[in-house]
Amino acid sequence: MQEKAERKKSLNELVNHRFDLLVIGGGITGAGIALDAASRGMRVCLIEKYDFASGTSSKSTKLIHGGLRYLKQMEFGLVREVGMERAIIHRLAPHLVKPINMLLPVYKNGSLGKFTTAIALGVYDWLAKVKKEERFRMLKHSEVLQLEPLLAVHNLVGGAVYKEYQTDDARLTMAVIKTAQQFGAICLNYCKAEKLLFNQNRVCGAQVFDLDSNNSLQIQAQVVVNAGGPWVDVIRGEANDTNKYLHLTKGIHIVVPDKLFPVSQAVYFDTPQDGRMIFAIPRDRVVYIGTTDTSFLGEIDKPLVTEADVEYLINAVNAKFPSVHLQVSHVESSWAGLRPLIHQKGKAPGAISRKDEIFISPQNLISIAGGKLTGYRRMSQKVNDLVANQLKVNNAINISTCQTINLPLSGSNFKMPVNEYVERRAGEAKQIGFTKKEIEQLVFKYGTATEIIIENAFALHKFYAEEHMRKLAAELKYSVEYEMVMNLSDFLIRRTGMLYFNLPYVKTIYKDAAQILGTFLRLTDAEIEMQIQFFENAMHEAHTFT
Ligand code: FAD
Repeated sequence: MQEKAERKKSLNELVNHRFDLLVIGGGITGAGIALDAASRGMRVCLIEKYDFASGTSSKSTKLIHGGLRYLKQMEFGLVREVGMERAIIHRLAPHLVKPINMLLPVYKNGSLGKFTTAIALGVYDWLAKVKKEERFRMLKHSEVLQLEPLLAVHNLVGGAVYKEYQTDDARLTMAVIKTAQQFGAICLNYCKAEKLLFNQNRVCGAQVFDLDSNNSLQIQAQVVVNAGGPWVDVIRGEANDTNKYLHLTKGIHIVVPDKLFPVSQAVYFDTPQDGRMIFAIPRDRVVYIGTTDTSFLGEIDKPLVTEADVEYLINAVNAKFPSVHLQVSHVESSWAGLRPLIHQKGKAPGAISRKDEIFISPQNLISIAGGKLTGYRRMSQKVNDLVANQLKVNNAINISTCQTINLPLSGSNFKMPVNEYVERRAGEAKQIGFTKKEIEQLVFKYGTATEIIIENAFALHKFYAEEHMRKLAAELKYSVEYEMVMNLSDFLIRRTGMLYFNLPYVKTIYKDAAQILGTFLRLTDAEIEMQIQFFENAMHEAHTFT
């Protein structure tokens, strides 16, 4: 059963309360740590300076995958660990993590030959213990073209099809946050750790600025974990932790309408420019393409998509799909994210290990960086084994072992297969105006909480005569009450992904959405106008390149 998230109540609990664990950062890593710790019985507080998942955790390729490319770097341990996690996360959130077919075409003189592809995928299936029905299959030249007729024929020698798992990174982070809250964790967005607090030369909490009320407050905790993603070094700097440092690399994605690039399934192919592999992944009415991997030295809060980034991806698509003629002006939306990788001397961005690493400063600030969205559960386990050990030594208390392998994520309490669940809910919601497609999309985002949204739509019937307004209001109400949405961008960018995947629709509804949100959040007209302007800037940035 989901509980409403009450920000004021949570803020009140922070004062006069000493937590076992304070987590700084509300991306997937921090969210995972909060859930793992709370489900072991620790008293946990998590703070996020902007919105949950507003850092890298909403800017990834949105795959829960074993990282085939890491085989090239001989990172067998990493492939095994994250490969096995795919099946686990799919089991814990079947609505949010879905298997898809990935086609890998093989070309003469390409970066992978037929033989190396078969070996690589075979090793991958073996390391990741992939179930029989999901193992790779090699394809003949004609079979590849049957699956993807738009691929270049010249030099095509065959290919392979294998399974990847598609997700929504920001939604996955939110599901983990909500599950952590069910175990008593206090999780707050728009709360920035401004300064670490020390007692006898040990970190014992943080001074925090609440951006909503413009108030500062102090949070005390026995152990502090820094899960600041690309900002990890900024926070580590305060605890004099300087022996290793991050190497940030930028990766961008572009989104084009599927009618301009009509691939019928996800394709993983190499770029003619430098032989790197990139993805083209269909999602509803669009296809997204990525990613790049370039060293980043700019402002961490604002990684931007450049025209050169976009051209790199477009040229790669046009070369591999000769009848497709993408241009920069066709790009509907985009995003840029930063990989918080651990610096390795002399290594190019693409060659740096994606392995996670934990640093402990002399004053006991525990920081974690590197890693993948896919590995969040295992990373959280490693961090909390350390934390639990420290709590045990300091207080002679026992904290249980990791529980998350068997903890379904919020919204996953289906009593039937997901497809059947969609059918049932679609039947009920028809009378209030939802189509089956809309219910399918709600279930992908919210799982069984779709029922609350349908109930909202019935209840809001008398306030919103127009069907589209009623549906929008029902979803907004849920996101305010249960997912701590504080502004228009939280909803249109991270809770729903609409800015990336449905920009033409967003343009028609964002002002209505701002008005409805204004009612639920009791905003003044000036505040609503400010939120509109903020979102308009985000829309502009999504399809304007520097
Ligand atoms: P973040 O998501 O950045 O979270 C850190 C948070 O800390 C931020 O929200 C930030 O606001 C907050 N914060 C910072 N300072 C403070 C402070 N002082 N006070 C409070 N909060 C603070 N992995 C996969 O498994 N699959 C993929 O398909 C995939 N694709 C990727 C594609 C790209 C282009 C990139 C860049 C990465 C990709 N990854 C992928 C990797 C994955 O996205 C990251 O490993 C993961 O999202 C990192 O999460 P995080 O929580 O560590 O960092």
